[in-house]
Amino acid sequence: MSEGAEAKQQRYRERVRVQTLTWAMGRSVHNRVDNECCPDFSCCHPDLFEQDSAKRWETYHREHGQRS
Ligand SMILES: [Zn+2]
Repeated sequence: MSEGAEAKQQRYRERVRVQTLTWAMGRSVHNRVDNECCPDFSCCHPDLFEQDSAKRWETYHREHGQRS
C-alpha cells in the first residue's frame, strides 16, 4: 500500500520543524532530503546567520509553535 499524501506531508513538516529547531539552537543545517535551507539560509550562506537568538526562537515559535 502506498503512503498517503497526508503522512508524507506530516513527515516533511516534521523535518522542517527539526531543522528550524536546530537552527534556533544555533546550528544551521541544510535539509538535504527536501533540498531546503533553514529560515535565514545560513546553512549555505553562513554570513547571513541571524545572531540574535531571541529572533531565531521567535521564528521557530511562530512557524512551529504548539497550537492549542
Ligand atoms: Zn542551505
